[in-house]
Amino acid sequence: MITDSVDEIASIVKNGGIVVFPTETVYGIGALATNKESCLRIYKIKNRPSDNPLIVHFASKQQIKNNCIIPKIAESLLNEFSPGALTLVLNKKNESLFSCGLDTVAVRIPNHTKARELIALTGPIAAPSANPSGKPSYTRFEDILNEFSGKVDGILQAEEPSFGMESTVLDLSKGNPILLRTGSIDQKTIESRLGIKIESPMNSEILSPGMKYRHYAPNGKVFISKYIPSLNEIIAMQKQKSKNQLKSIDYSNLVIARIGFSIDDKTSLDRVIENNLDYMSSIYKFLLDCDNSKVEIIYCQEPNDGEFADTIWDRLKKASLQ
Ligand code: AMP
Ligand code: MG
Repeated sequence: MITDSVDEIASIVKNGGIVVFPTETVYGIGALATNKESCLRIYKIKNRPSDNPLIVHFASKQQIKNNCIIPKIAESLLNEFSPGALTLVLNKKNESLFSCGLDTVAVRIPNHTKARELIALTGPIAAPSANPSGKPSYTRFEDILNEFSGKVDGILQAEEPSFGMESTVLDLSKGNPILLRTGSIDQKTIESRLGIKIESPMNSEILSPGMKYRHYAPNGKVFISKYIPSLNEIIAMQKQKSKNQLKSIDYSNLVIARIGFSIDDKTSLDRVIENNLDYMSSIYKFLLDCDNSKVEIIYCQEPNDGEFADTIWDRLKKASLQ
């Protein structure tokens, strides 16, 4: 069922159904967080690795307090950034919240009125991003309809995600905050607003199950470059490569798309972005458009230094892994 009625979607959720709904970051595919069977259906629909836990979405701080242990630092972070694009991993108080058998659970209050209205009616909703596992997250209603019509029990038609990028995930279950995933709130912004230091385990140990999986990858081959090369330069580079590999390929039909701050010979497949914020909220749309247009070669310009650079780098690197 596709509807703009929060009540209808809420009754589907309460009856154990799976729904897709927008938040301000990306679309989520959700089920009642206390219904294990329903939560497990999400893994099948997304083809998600079974040890990667889901973010549980709440309508209010009080609802989180009823279900989780909130250390002082979490209280301050919630006061400063909730509702919003910050997810906190906390120790569970309510054992029946689904989190892949862990003692911890990732919690977030979305800054999207209809999403919060829904969760206020149903109770906590476990919802990862609504996209096939390993693919870019979806941020447009049209992409959601193409992918999920007939596969889920309900789709909520409401304001589309405005950020276009997932939440930042911090682990608070072990004391000091640890960054588990970069996202649409910059690490330095959090640090300076609270006067705290966030640890980054990114290259050392895997603390979050989601960190070990390939992500955000389009079908085409992704190259990251300091400046965007012209189409002629890209074709010449590809020719050289296949010459080295002794392959003979027809380059006349090679489908190429580029995203960057400046593109001299721009085509309709290319996307020019203005700044890092624009880059961050455009990257998934661009990568999905590449798949829809069967793009084979994708060039992405390096982000500028500064705010959101870490998040954009993270997604570009993961998208470029084949
Ligand atoms: P998504 O798949 O977009 O919903 O992303 C959720 C992210 O949060 C993934 O990287 C998960 O591995 C991570 N996550 C969720 N729950 C936990 C948890 N209890 N402990 C650590 N990481 C978690
Ligand atoms: Mg995801």
